[in-house]
Amino acid sequence: MSVVVSIVTQDVRFPTSLELDGSDAVNVDPDYSAAYVTIGLDTGEEGHAFVFTAGRGNDIVTHAIDVYGQLLFGRNADELIYDLGAASKRLIHDSQMRWLGPEKGVTQMACGALVNALWDLRARREGKPLWLLLSELAPEEIVDVIDFTHIGNALTPELALDILRRGEAGKADRIASLKTDGYPAYTTSPGWLGYSDEKLVRLSRAAADAGFSMIKLKVGGNIDADRRRLALMRREVPGTPVAIDANQRWEVDEAVNWVNQLAEFEPYWIEEPTSTDDILGHAAIRKGVSPIRVATGEAVANRIIFKQLLQADAIDFLQLDATRVGGINENLATLLLAARFDVPVCPHAGGVGLCEVVQHFSFFDYAAITGTQEGRFIEYVEHLHEHFAEPVRVTNGRYVAPVRPGIGAEMLTASREKWTFPSGSGWLEIGDSASITDPYPMAAKV
Ligand SMILES: [Mg+2]
Repeated sequence: MSVVVSIVTQDVRFPTSLELDGSDAVNVDPDYSAAYVTIGLDTGEEGHAFVFTAGRGNDIVTHAIDVYGQLLFGRNADELIYDLGAASKRLIHDSQMRWLGPEKGVTQMACGALVNALWDLRARREGKPLWLLLSELAPEEIVDVIDFTHIGNALTPELALDILRRGEAGKADRIASLKTDGYPAYTTSPGWLGYSDEKLVRLSRAAADAGFSMIKLKVGGNIDADRRRLALMRREVPGTPVAIDANQRWEVDEAVNWVNQLAEFEPYWIEEPTSTDDILGHAAIRKGVSPIRVATGEAVANRIIFKQLLQADAIDFLQLDATRVGGINENLATLLLAARFDVPVCPHAGGVGLCEVVQHFSFFDYAAITGTQEGRFIEYVEHLHEHFAEPVRVTNGRYVAPVRPGIGAEMLTASREKWTFPSGSGWLEIGDSASITDPYPMAAKV
């Protein structure tokens, strides 16, 4: 038997606002951050995970992880990591903490980090990267970790088992092909809203030359600027599909109107046209902008909202996020819901470390659920990979299968220490120049 003897959190932030990397119509100046957790066992084993945030508030998530961590401290780790369904429920359905959500926002993300750190321990113990661990689990074991609470009118354990059993055929061949050929990627790096036209054109050319299947452009600030930037991109890389992303900027009618003014550029999808919680709004937008397709998911808090988006025919692409929801268990539920409604999953990865973790879900989806990569790709952004124990690799526009045992979340110790906020040496060096260290961040905008 092994025991959880430490749960250590770190508030890690990177000054990405200095270059406006990650900027869009709503997130105008993000400093990409990670509320990081390491679960230690008495055996010396460690499980690593984090929650991505945009900067301010990273300390709130970090503290929430500390509070939930008390529910795991001193417990039998073997029981936790070999019954991850029960471990997840113990955190997410805690009878008192549940009041703070339920199942949304800071508390859900904090639970997700701890659940993921337990999965990291499991995957390391079994010597496999997460995607391979999941792909080689029996369908019954996958179903066993999923929380079907409040999704039973769309997905039951029996239906989930059917989907996974169908996925068994040809699975070994698909695992082999993932190891040699990887999985398609698209890139958001050319299209941040804060980038100049020159940088947009230069990075679009570089992305097309690098073989990316698609490029994404941030929109929603100004319609004339959106038209100009889309035209520039289209002229530079006419053969490469371009998706657009409004980061929830619009009202429903405004979204329909705005997107239709961009229709001549044939966007591959419109992402987050309005509030993620507005399920009926997404359905109305989807009707109003057809044949342009609608995507969302990076800010969807849980499987129940995803269920409704699917039931309402509100989305064409589902963009799950690695650290927004209640952990890997909940993302497994979402992958199966998407399969049940035949909606492709194209994971969100704009943030620090999200590429490293989220790739595992698409690899698993291909190996064990849908068996297809048709119309599917994983988002890719350029920044901060050097801080990870196994930085993501993209070759010829495709994600290369990760091989390191674990869930892909481990950040190098030196990076975590240097960028611990606000006392790390990195922050002491740059002083007040990043957005996050501005003592009056709102004053400048008034
Ligand atoms: Mg987005």
